[in-house]
Amino acid sequence: MENFVVSARKYRPQHFSTVVGQSHITTTLKNAILQQHLAHAFLFCGPRGVGKTTCARILAKTINCENLGKDGEACDKCNSCQSFNNGASFNIHELDAASNNSVDDIRDLIEQVRFAPQAGKYKIYIIDEVHMLSANAFNAFLKTLEEPPAHAIFILATTEKHKILPTILSRCQIFDFKRITPSDISAHLDEIAAKESINAEPAALQVIAQKSDGCMRDALSILDKIVSFTNANLTYSNTLEHLNLLDEDYYFKLLELLDNEDLPGVLTTYDEIDKKGFEGDMVLNNLSEFFRNLLVSRDPRSINLLQVVEGFRNRYIAAASTISPAYMIGALNILNDAEIGFKQARNKKLHVEFHLIRLTHLKQAVTLVEEDGAVKKKHIDDIKPVAFKQISFVAQKPRPGAKLIVETAKVKLPDQLEQLATPPKQPLQQKLPHGSTAVDTPTALSSGGIGSLKKIREQIQNRKQDLAPVHVLNETLLAEAWNTYLQKLQENNQVTSLSNLKMAKVNIIDECVFEIHADSRIQQQFIESEKVGLLIHMQDFFNNPKVQFQVQLNPAADIEEVGIEQPLSLRDQYFKMIERYPIVKEMRDQLNLDLDY
Ligand SMILES: [Zn+2]
Repeated sequence: MENFVVSARKYRPQHFSTVVGQSHITTTLKNAILQQHLAHAFLFCGPRGVGKTTCARILAKTINCENLGKDGEACDKCNSCQSFNNGASFNIHELDAASNNSVDDIRDLIEQVRFAPQAGKYKIYIIDEVHMLSANAFNAFLKTLEEPPAHAIFILATTEKHKILPTILSRCQIFDFKRITPSDISAHLDEIAAKESINAEPAALQVIAQKSDGCMRDALSILDKIVSFTNANLTYSNTLEHLNLLDEDYYFKLLELLDNEDLPGVLTTYDEIDKKGFEGDMVLNNLSEFFRNLLVSRDPRSINLLQVVEGFRNRYIAAASTISPAYMIGALNILNDAEIGFKQARNKKLHVEFHLIRLTHLKQAVTLVEEDGAVKKKHIDDIKPVAFKQISFVAQKPRPGAKLIVETAKVKLPDQLEQLATPPKQPLQQKLPHGSTAVDTPTALSSGGIGSLKKIREQIQNRKQDLAPVHVLNETLLAEAWNTYLQKLQENNQVTSLSNLKMAKVNIIDECVFEIHADSRIQQQFIESEKVGLLIHMQDFFNNPKVQFQVQLNPAADIEEVGIEQPLSLRDQYFKMIERYPIVKEMRDQLNLDLDY
């Protein structure tokens, strides 16, 4: 079986010209080599997998080449180049500072540096992940880094430049490696696919390039993985499947549904996505990216920022022209909220759905109008606050029938007078057997009566009441109503309420309002606790929802009670105490005490 070599190693660039996406560095290095102005210490910084170690190795090979080309590239034919290519050169030393970060490791290295190379001109020391060196190791290294032997060149590589001590930075020539652009990566992948006779759709390679986030090593290992899964036949859809990515078609579909404010469509589409096994946070994140891409594709100046598969480019541009920027910004805002809150959400799917609902209604909530060339935010008219109606204490709807009678009564004044003179028809509940009165209050009703028959009777009674005439207050009727209520309390064994109400005095204020006078606060509180039941009774008795009453405290009782009920302040307590026990004051004076009140 043939040994499989991963693409990242097999296709590791051997010349400066084949390094992808770092031409600003390779050109500088080639010129330095040609002009023999080579520094003794380099610092290569940049994200992982962008070619730092590769460049360091090419540099080592090139400066040791016996037949250096005029373009500053190694010949690949001389002994030195051959030994480098075979990995057998003694002129290159690599130290991984992540695992060899002690002072002793650095001392060993310094020891080796002293010896001149047996063949070739330079010895190259590559220290990878140099930021991992301990502080002592750094200090031990400083002297050698500042004045290395003429044959030694140090190349320090790091992903975290900010962790390098300034004393080291000042001794090195610094090169910043860039993230490799997706188009550079996909072009490189395409070359490799051609060499390896891999059948790959351009869109598939573009997806890999985007997914690798500027890291060539990642891109190559993804390629290897998918090639082995798909038998060297890469299509857009099987690549998406292996990368666990959602087809961008879904986002365009969602956009269309959102634009049509088609909530059921949006929710079912999300359900479809969810069933495919895509995590909610990923969907939110991708949807944000989608809106971001739409936003940048609106303007030719920002279109270069559009990072999508080539085939989708025109679709993005077309879609972006139909959606207002305000909508996109609003959508990004909602999606950002959604992503922030995702971790805390207990029901992740519901969380995503909730924000999709918000997105669906976004268009409706805000419309944009161009006014005098300025874009203004305008809330559309059909969203109005709900009509607000203040509800009075135990509000009852005036009964339609009763209202009618009142209106006619106003016209026929003599009739009304007649009604006032004669006692009204007794409310039906009084004629019902004992116990039925208990189902008088709404709470008693809701707790369920003794039988459904009573309820039916009551409904019939209410209907009859609806047709009964409305009455206003007069002394005879009020006394009758009052007594009926007391009788009811007695029947229900509510002794305390009964005695308190019995002691109270009642007087009429106007035709709908009366007053109850209490002699003490306690009595007042008891009456207040009966308020709801009493009010319902009174309104039913008079068949008049306007009937109201107030509970008043007798002014004399109020004054009397003030002295007893009000708690004494600390100061008052003290004066009261010395009034009763003069010795307290004496003690206070003798001991010269201050009071803390
Ligand atoms: Zn050579």
